[in-house]
Amino acid sequence: MRKYEWISNNEEETKQLAYSLGKLTQPGDVFLLEGDLGAGKTTFTKGLAKGLEISRTVNSPTFTIIKEYMGRLSLYHMDVYRVQDSCEDLGFDEYFEGEGVCVVEWAKLIQDQLPENYAIITITREGDTKRRIVFEAFGSRYEQLGEELNRYEDISN
Ligand code: ADP
Ligand code: MG
Repeated sequence: MRKYEWISNNEEETKQLAYSLGKLTQPGDVFLLEGDLGAGKTTFTKGLAKGLEISRTVNSPTFTIIKEYMGRLSLYHMDVYRVQDSCEDLGFDEYFEGEGVCVVEWAKLIQDQLPENYAIITITREGDTKRRIVFEAFGSRYEQLGEELNRYEDISN
């Protein structure tokens, strides 16, 4: 596992980083988003969607488990918080193995159904508008992506 880290000073910087990630994203990429309520997971997903050339507004998928958005690639925004039984198979693998890009919130609840490789993006609140954004790459595809994003985005302090 390799780890990449950025500090975001405001909402715009978070969106900018996510936008760059969206630009670099390829079919089949899977991102697990972690962070407390209000950390910026939805904000990050909005930026990512822009980078995927999605014009529709991305909202939190809390009342539906999967929301699909069309862009350069399809984006599947999943919030599995409402999956009652972690063993319940809702066919997530079809999304993970497909040509779209998956962003998963509360992925811990479907641990057994996750693909082999992915990146975990953790957003931590460090102040009113300051956030630490950590990108943990599991597998060579995500290590490459982390490197590229690092080169692209040097928003340290
Ligand atoms: P989550 O989906 O993790 O619950 P949201 O993205 O819905 O969080 O909300 C994050 C809130 O924090 C928004 O109101 C946003 O404007 C605010 N915010 C302030 N600073 C930042 C930052 N640096 N990055 C992301 N969001 C920020
Ligand atoms: Mg949210």
